[in-house]
Amino acid sequence: MKVTAAVATDVGLVRDGNEDSYLTDEPLFAVADGMGGHRGGEVASQLAVETLEKLFKKGIGELPDQVREANRVVFERSVVDEKVAGMGTTLTAALVEGDRIRLAHVGDSRAYLLREGDLRLLTEDHTLVHRMVTEGEISKEEAETHPQRSVLTRALGVETVVDVDDDTVQVRPGDRLLLCTDGLTSMVSEQAVEEVLRAVPDPQEAAQRLVQLANEGGGADNTTVVVLDFSDDAPAARRKEEPSREAIAPAPTSEPARSRRRLPRKLLVWIGISVALVVVALVGLRLYLDSQWYVGVSDGHVAIFQGIPTEVAGFQLHQVVVQTTISAEKAESLAVYQDSLGDGITAENREGASAIVEQIRQDVEEMRQVPKPNQPGSTDASGP
Ligand code: MG
Repeated sequence: MKVTAAVATDVGLVRDGNEDSYLTDEPLFAVADGMGGHRGGEVASQLAVETLEKLFKKGIGELPDQVREANRVVFERSVVDEKVAGMGTTLTAALVEGDRIRLAHVGDSRAYLLREGDLRLLTEDHTLVHRMVTEGEISKEEAETHPQRSVLTRALGVETVVDVDDDTVQVRPGDRLLLCTDGLTSMVSEQAVEEVLRAVPDPQEAAQRLVQLANEGGGADNTTVVVLDFSDDAPAARRKEEPSREAIAPAPTSEPARSRRRLPRKLLVWIGISVALVVVALVGLRLYLDSQWYVGVSDGHVAIFQGIPTEVAGFQLHQVVVQTTISAEKAESLAVYQDSLGDGITAENREGASAIVEQIRQDVEEMRQVPKPNQPGSTDASGP
């Protein structure tokens, strides 16, 4: 199964910082929503996804074990570092294994599956109100406005051990998986989420549109959205011999194994070296692009990009990480951004890019407050 992934995250309209973190490192994807004073939430969510990624790459344990270990790591940090004492995080992770997705989940971030236009919730919120609904104490509608609706009954990093929900879902070509933090689901109805996922074919556009809706709905929280599109990666010829592919589990190892027996050893070595060189080059390029940041224009809005503002042979060497609500047209009406924004304003890192966005936001707001542009001539005239 081929996976096309997209991600969008935004601080929202109320919070000072973004305490959400995400992981999109095929085949492993996750969102995490941190909580705790000062920088606690940010540290917790980041530490959780980083630990998960590290353990997965080392091949230590299975997904739920890796989440339990991430719990221990976050908990230990919160004990030894008093600046982040009491921090915690949600974590909803999806591991794509052929045509199956392994899910591991703690907290109130969610996973949804869109199949043939219908959206299905795959996870259960570990919240007080969800427990109250299942126990019949309050209705689903009452839960939506309940004053304690954000109280979690389970989170990562709060205790030495945590219960991890573990589930496996079969996917089919055409399926779309959504991972999101509660910044989305507390601001946008499931129906509206379903409509966007159904109507917007491009996963990146869909992810950005969802974040935009959360901000339009009030943006009271950080919002992070990962969209995964599943498609059939089998060549057309193969499909002819296997008309009912859906029922057949893919056997990715069988073909290389067969050809290995037939190829002469020397050729095999050369193929190995060539493949290794290509991999090294691609990994190098990827690492380089991942370390590059700039602020530019996406869909008429000021946006933070990762990568470089160019494309090679039709491949774009960048992706939108955050699309803000700032109108690009307004920003470009300011002389200082007129040419630079369209070309992309380079930043040293993600924080630098955020700072540039904040500067643009301030400049645009100031322009709104002062309808007439400053005239340097008049300042001179008022001098002594
Ligand atoms: Mg949240």
